[in-house]
Amino acid sequence: SLCFTMKYCQNCGSTVSLAIPQGDNRHRHVCSSCGDIHYQNPKIVAGCLPIWEDKVLLCKRAINPRYDFWTLPAGFMENEETLEQAALRESVEEANATLENLRLYTVLSLPHISQVYMMFLADLKNTDFHPGVESLQTDLFTEEEIPLNELAVKSIDVTLRHYFLDRKKGVFPLHISIIEKKSDCAWTL
Ligand code: ZN
Repeated sequence: SLCFTMKYCQNCGSTVSLAIPQGDNRHRHVCSSCGDIHYQNPKIVAGCLPIWEDKVLLCKRAINPRYDFWTLPAGFMENEETLEQAALRESVEEANATLENLRLYTVLSLPHISQVYMMFLADLKNTDFHPGVESLQTDLFTEEEIPLNELAVKSIDVTLRHYFLDRKKGVFPLHISIIEKKSDCAWTL
C-alpha cells in the first residue's frame, strides 16, 4: 500500500500512475514518461528514554500533531546518520539533553502508518536540559508522576510502561512488538 499519493515524477516532472511493475507484486507510482518506479518504504523513528536517578525526562510538544502532549525525544531519522546519532540528535533538538550509555530497548512496528520506532534507554549526564524549539516544556517525572493520559503516541506509552515494569525486576531486555491501529491491547507485557 502507498502512504503518500504522488502526482509528479521526481525525476522528470511528468505525471505518475499506479501500476504493478514487471516482476513486482504490488502497486507503485510509475512515471509515464521516463519509466522511473518511485518506491515507498517505512520510516524509522529513533528516540531515547532519558533516565536520571528514579526519574525519566519527558518533553511537552510545541508542534503538531499532538501539540501540548508529552513525549520522549524521538523523530524521523535523517539520511546519512546512524540510529544512535538520530536518537541523540532528537534529544538535543527537543530537550537539549546530554545523554550517554545508549542501549536499544524497544523496537515497535506500526504497520498501519508504515513506521518503526526504535527507542534507546539512555542516562542523562546532568540536569542542564531545557526545551528546544519543538518543546514547550521539559521535565523529570517519577513513575507516579507520568501523565499517562497526556502522552502523545502509543509507542511512547508502551516504552514507558516496559521501563517501569522492568525496573521493578532489575532487567531491561529488548522488547520487540507490534502496535496495531486503534487497539488498546495489541501489546502485552
Ligand atoms: Zn519521470
